[in-house]
Amino acid sequence: MNKKIKYLIDDIEAEVRYTARYIGKSKLDKRVMQAMVEVPREKFVPKYLQSNAYDNGPLPIGHGQTISQPYIVALMSDLLDIKPQHHILEIGTGSGYQTAILAQLCEKVFSVERIVELGKRAVECFEQLKYKNIETRIGNGYQGWQEHAPYDGIIVTAAATHIPQPLIDQLKPGGNLVIPVSASYSGQSLMLVKKNLQGEIETRDVLSVAFVPLVQDEE
Ligand code: SAH
Repeated sequence: MNKKIKYLIDDIEAEVRYTARYIGKSKLDKRVMQAMVEVPREKFVPKYLQSNAYDNGPLPIGHGQTISQPYIVALMSDLLDIKPQHHILEIGTGSGYQTAILAQLCEKVFSVERIVELGKRAVECFEQLKYKNIETRIGNGYQGWQEHAPYDGIIVTAAATHIPQPLIDQLKPGGNLVIPVSASYSGQSLMLVKKNLQGEIETRDVLSVAFVPLVQDEE
């Protein structure tokens, strides 16, 4: 393993231990950590930030958006509890880094982004890295992606003011939805939303986080 990736993995593991009492575990899923080793993050960050690609922090990707912190990418992927046969919906493709991590873990990823240029750039990365199991769309992810629903898991990588009902509707019973939700008085909270086999919703606040906002008022 390349040294920079090894340091990043060490950093993520340390942060997982440090936050263990919030996230309810001191180690993340092995498959998720293996995906973090395998996906080259430098391909998803702007050229001028290449030397920071393996820092455990968010970085700007243009258009006022950011590529998420690797620890958060790993944690959200772990919370989804992804199985190899799963179909996962992602809202907020952004750089495409989280999308690629998901693509290593499941059969098919569907990802929605509202900014055309970011969506295009991400698709170029997926082609270059030869991912064949990612489908993308430009549009308002608040509405989900009805055509391929229901999904085994849904991940939202921008902060919403509430859990969008279309996403709850597009989640399979037994599935997980991971989403940062902002309550103006207390910042943002990463929420794990489970739809049980009876179709009932159970939610858990996992951790305080900082995401760019999910845009809601279009289409
Ligand atoms: N997972 C991405 C995160 C990018 S930041 C990464 O690590 O690179 C969040 C992304 O969500 C931004 O690209 C933003 O444009 C997008 N976004 C915000 N609101 C959206 C909406 N309603 N529908 C689709 N994408 C949205």
